Amino acid sequence: MSQKIFYREALTHPVFKSIAHAAAQLDYPTYVIGGFVRDLLLQRKKPVDIDVVCVGDGIKLAKEVAKLLPQKPKVQVFKTYGTAMLRHEAMELEFVGARKESYAIDSRNPHVTPGTLQDDQRRRDFTINAMALSLNETDFGAFVDPFDGMTDLKNKVIRTPLDPDITYSDDPLRMLRAIRFASQLGFSIEEASLQAIKDNAHRIKIITPERIVTELNKILESPKPSVGFKLLESTGLLVYFLPELTALKGVDEIEGERHKDNFYHSLEVVDNIARNTDDLWLRWAALLHDIGKARTKKFIKGVGWTFHAHEYVGSKMVYRLFKRLKMPLNDKMKFVQKMVSMSSRPIDIVGEVTDSAVRRLVFDAGDDIESLMTLCEADITTKNAKRYQKYHHNFKLVRDKIVEVEERDRIRNFQPPISGELIMKTFNLRPSKEIGIIKEAIKNAILDGEIPNEYEASYQYMLQKGIDLGLTPVQSD
Ligand code: ATP
Repeated sequence: MSQKIFYREALTHPVFKSIAHAAAQLDYPTYVIGGFVRDLLLQRKKPVDIDVVCVGDGIKLAKEVAKLLPQKPKVQVFKTYGTAMLRHEAMELEFVGARKESYAIDSRNPHVTPGTLQDDQRRRDFTINAMALSLNETDFGAFVDPFDGMTDLKNKVIRTPLDPDITYSDDPLRMLRAIRFASQLGFSIEEASLQAIKDNAHRIKIITPERIVTELNKILESPKPSVGFKLLESTGLLVYFLPELTALKGVDEIEGERHKDNFYHSLEVVDNIARNTDDLWLRWAALLHDIGKARTKKFIKGVGWTFHAHEYVGSKMVYRLFKRLKMPLNDKMKFVQKMVSMSSRPIDIVGEVTDSAVRRLVFDAGDDIESLMTLCEADITTKNAKRYQKYHHNFKLVRDKIVEVEERDRIRNFQPPISGELIMKTFNLRPSKEIGIIKEAIKNAILDGEIPNEYEASYQYMLQKGIDLGLTPVQSD
């Protein structure tokens, strides 16, 4: 028999003592299990989510633990799942009774009966998530790893404790979790598992969009999101929830002219941006910035491949995509739309970085100008070192000009110096289209550098514009 390993030093926080004490009082064999143990062995992050499993009633144990904690936290009970949760300091502790699970074909919600610790470990998704540490007096801190998750951790492998075909078919969400962990941890998915995911990909249809998006967000937040997205694509999963992306796959050639594979290009852009920002929504924008290209693709003789107005088309698609996946239709969605619709703007002015072009860019991007530049720089995926340097240099010029123009003209949070009311008062007007015309003309004159972003110059410009429109200023005193 192999020697027992102990990780007592990982359990020095007083909360584990309280759990152990409560468990002893109830006479429940109790263990900390799952992500806590995995992340401890990976020395990954300070665990804040702690999953506790007991051979007994998890809800009862949670209540007993709460009584022993100095703050007497509230216990949140999830009756349908037979679980309970309490917060202690920065930690979220989840309690469950050890269980056996069986599944119906049309649901990922199992039929549950009480079981042993091993039964419970068997129902876990991956060997690396099935490892446990004892909280029992007799062997406090003992490592319980019946499926050798430790070896899989060392070899960086995602493997299921049971037959992967059954594991993924029972709960298809696990397919996404496998890929998410592969992307987060830089692990590979064991061959039989990978095959089982391919075979069961269609089962993803029973998973709610919200759950899918949770996993997609985690993949996007991982250090190299392309790892996850390539797996999603190669297993056949991606097309079920992001067909806009799979539509970008492939390279066409006409008359010897080829365009790039916009699917793999988009993944490169996401990896690039992941090195420069943790902003999830900017990463979403990077992923989706070219989704309009499949619909707008055209070959024009003598010109080559074109994707006319793909930014506009893409930004409209963002709304439908967010809606379908039940993602928030709020300012985050609007931000992604804005990034997609403006994704070519900085490159369009690269040839001629004039003050007025930069003023317009800053005016339209507003406070998101920095994000937009980050996106455009990530969009440089050329493998030609000379061109790579040149493109970055060009954007550096745009950035320098942005700083210069900003300092001088304060365009970023542009407030028109002349209000609609003043225009009405000056020309004795009721609300009418002339007001809009004059306001727009003043704005354009400022952005084009015709007049400075100041009151007096704008006032004079307004007078002239009104007169041009046949209006007469009212004499003021
Ligand atoms: P993270 O906190 O990074 O999401 P985690 O492993 O802690 O990782 P949770 O979703 O909190 O993820 O799940 C806790 C534990 O519950 C997992 O480690 C795993 O043992 C088990 N688990 C979670 N989801 C499933 C599932 N769909 N099927 C089987 N076991 C699961």
